[in-house]
Amino acid sequence: MKKLEALTFLLIATAFISCAAADDEKQQVISFLEMHKQRHTDLAMQLWDFAELGYMETRSSNLLKQHLASSGFEVTSGVADIPTAFVASYGEGSPVIGILAEFDALPGISQSATPTREIVDDKPNGHACGHHLFGACSTAAALALKEWMDDQDIKGTLRLYGTPAEEGGSGKVYMVRAGLFDDVDAVLHWHASDRNAANPSTSLVNKSARFTFTGISAHAAAAPHLGRSALDGVESMNYMVNLMREHVLEKTRIHYVITRGGEAPNVVPDYAQVYYYVRHPDADTLLMIWDRVISVSEAAAKGTGTEVHAKVMHGNHSLLPNETLAKVMHANLSMVGGVVYSEEEKEFARRVSSSFLDATNFSGLESKVLPMKMDNGQGSTDVGDVSWNVPTTGLRTATWVPGTASHSWQAIAAGGYTIGAKGMQVAAKTLALTVIDLLRNPKLISTAKQEFKDRRGHDFKYVPLLGDRNPPLDYRK
Ligand SMILES: [Zn+2]
Ligand SMILES: [Zn+2]
Repeated sequence: MKKLEALTFLLIATAFISCAAADDEKQQVISFLEMHKQRHTDLAMQLWDFAELGYMETRSSNLLKQHLASSGFEVTSGVADIPTAFVASYGEGSPVIGILAEFDALPGISQSATPTREIVDDKPNGHACGHHLFGACSTAAALALKEWMDDQDIKGTLRLYGTPAEEGGSGKVYMVRAGLFDDVDAVLHWHASDRNAANPSTSLVNKSARFTFTGISAHAAAAPHLGRSALDGVESMNYMVNLMREHVLEKTRIHYVITRGGEAPNVVPDYAQVYYYVRHPDADTLLMIWDRVISVSEAAAKGTGTEVHAKVMHGNHSLLPNETLAKVMHANLSMVGGVVYSEEEKEFARRVSSSFLDATNFSGLESKVLPMKMDNGQGSTDVGDVSWNVPTTGLRTATWVPGTASHSWQAIAAGGYTIGAKGMQVAAKTLALTVIDLLRNPKLISTAKQEFKDRRGHDFKYVPLLGDRNPPLDYRK
């Protein structure tokens, strides 16, 4: 054999052996997750039971920390001035790979793990966005990876970020602002869904505020001329914003709830409040629309003889996609594949689907992995701010019955049932395998970083949308 041929042969053989070794390691991690499946499912179901709201996830946060600390992770609690935020770290040196873990529930929505509508007494909150699965899954992946790092003597750091209050609290933005991601090379996340996909994704930029109007109270029949209604301020603002919808760019989303509107019709209310979300794919456009909403609130106050105070509640940037990382995630998701459902689970799904507004298209639970494509999501997430600071990618797995809207009772039901647990297992395996690839192949990280820089642009400067406010630790109280 000539020298060059021999060298080529050697390189191919080495590549084959290292690839096979990596596959063996991946199988070991998958076996670990299979072996501890019940423990991880129990963890998720405990979080589902707690159903704690943003910044008040004390028990959920503690439970995850206990699992990580008892497995040898170094846990730092109360980071970024948020009592329920934490960082659990294992290993040392670079590269540093982060995995996000959410665990907050949603207010005002309650459901048992049954396929028909069933409100749970004395439980006003529920995991309608599947964050209990998210928190438990990421923890499970981290525990599996720790075993692998020990076994293979892997250099590098694995960091699990316990990130509270995703739902309207922007917990991760404060963690980014505190510099907790400054030395991280890549970040992975996932989300509950009705399908299995690992796409490079975008999302909408999102900013919110509470507009509090104050007026003058008076007897509504005997002396209305002496009163100035704060509710009039709220209603005027809403009316003008609703007219404004015709004159904003497409893809804008504006929604509100009246959180205070007075107590009795015979008292002119001197206090009323409306809580607004504004969204758009582009941050600069969003900020222009935001300024207009602020002007509308001031005009509403002026016209009704009231005063208004706007308090910014949260702000999330869009997701910055990273195709380099998404391809790795997609390859691993394809390797893991979907799951096989039992007859009982199929029947559960059929019954849930019969509650949908359009139940005619239901064709069963989703077990295949969808081809990779750019996903322009209509939601928003505080993962966005992470993604503009560190190359980031995520995946979705089928934890819900196809056709389920997030933030619905159907999402709580399937998320508390074995369908949710099976989807979580797929995600835990995929996250873990993707970390193995990143820690084994430094080139992947450097390619992802180059793509990240190109997408951000060279003059990019990160500015949090929520300004310098402190975490709104009481926003759900
Ligand atoms: Zn949500
Ligand atoms: Zn969510």
